[in-house]
Amino acid sequence: PLTPATIALIKATVPALDAHGLAITRRMYERLFENPDIRDLFNQSHHGETGSQPKALAQAVLAYARNIDNLGVLGGAVERIAQKHVALNILPEHYPFVADALLGAIGDVLGEAATPEIAAAWGEAYWFLAELLIGREAAIYRAQASRPGGWNGWRDVVVESVTPESETIRSFVLVPADGGPVLRHEPGQYLGFLVTRPGQGVLKRNYSISCAPNDRAYRITVKREERAGEPAGLVSTWLHDHAGPGTLLKVSAPAGEFVLDRADETPVVLVSGGVGLTPLVSMLETITATTPARPTWFVHGALNGRVHAMRDHTRSLAAGRDTIRLKTFYAEPEAQDRLGDHYDAQGLITADWLVAHTPHAAATYYLCGPKPFLASLVHGLQRHGVPDDRVRFEFFGPADDLLDA
Ligand code: FAD
Repeated sequence: PLTPATIALIKATVPALDAHGLAITRRMYERLFENPDIRDLFNQSHHGETGSQPKALAQAVLAYARNIDNLGVLGGAVERIAQKHVALNILPEHYPFVADALLGAIGDVLGEAATPEIAAAWGEAYWFLAELLIGREAAIYRAQASRPGGWNGWRDVVVESVTPESETIRSFVLVPADGGPVLRHEPGQYLGFLVTRPGQGVLKRNYSISCAPNDRAYRITVKREERAGEPAGLVSTWLHDHAGPGTLLKVSAPAGEFVLDRADETPVVLVSGGVGLTPLVSMLETITATTPARPTWFVHGALNGRVHAMRDHTRSLAAGRDTIRLKTFYAEPEAQDRLGDHYDAQGLITADWLVAHTPHAAATYYLCGPKPFLASLVHGLQRHGVPDDRVRFEFFGPADDLLDA
């Protein structure tokens, strides 16, 4: 454990971290990415000018310093980070590079103020957290490798089929190139992808699995990230334009802690915005296949009918079952979108609506969608007194700065 002297020194640096945390983590990544092998471990689109990763890390470091004498409160964050690391195939031998970069960056930014005692305390605190992560990651790797169909590292999968789900969203069914089974995922988990593009280097992305667990195949459902005036998303547009039956992809085994609690049959409310429906469709398929009597709400928000994905699929899952209720919100319906047929309400999903229409005293809420959507619903449900352990969410980017949005 950390010594009381180290704890006191770390706490004393909280004001400096508050003021300079972002400068420190930016400098840390600069130092880290001088080594191209280390740079390729990361998802580079979370970095650069608009990248949110340095901010998320600065907040995580600050939270760590603030809670250094009460680390129990960080358990959820440690688990989330360990799962992300496993999807990127982060290994123990990578941690010393981060230690050197972080400690160097603290020195670069704080200058004289980073006394040898403070540097030593941060060295000790870094390795304390690193050992926690390394231990947890080793356990996850062991569990992945030891289960039927499991593996560690990058496995070749082949695109079996491609299905359009809306004007901007497509599904890809993936089967192992070696002909073996896949590891059954927990509904809600994602896969890590390694894509090598000429001139773009190594690209790492996560895609949630959008089907129920099975031994044969995974399905992912991807939105084409392209807006006028902005560079197109590298991996999603490549998948849409170039991946077809026979395309080989490299994936890491299913990871992630945003998973359906299958141990009980209490009511469950699956709430999504846009392409955030993917992990929740996996959950809905699982519920209809294994516990169809479980009271379930599938509440989805889309901009309009042209970008509303998997409408027929979710309808057919709910068809004939009065325990499964679908509610669809369109923010900006168009003339051809018919209220009561294609969608049920106009506008955005709100916490007030959820509380009024779902059993909030007993239900567990699973949420996935864009930042403002999550910030509004997570805070709103909290304000209505739904306890934190019944409000679970996934965000399709670095999550640590999410709830400041
Ligand atoms: P990037 O190249 O990474 O670009 C991302 C966005 O930034 C694009 O809109 C692009 O236009 C914009 N951009 C790029 N460069 C710049 C710049 N210099 N300035 C301004 N804007 C810029 N996505 C899905 O579609 N389906 C899923 O099921 C899914 N599941 C996920 C699960 C998890 C746990 C996580 C973390 C993410 C998930 N994602 C999912 C998101 C996915 O991983 C990618 O982030 C997404 O596909 C975009 O990647 P890209 O390479 O296409 O875009």
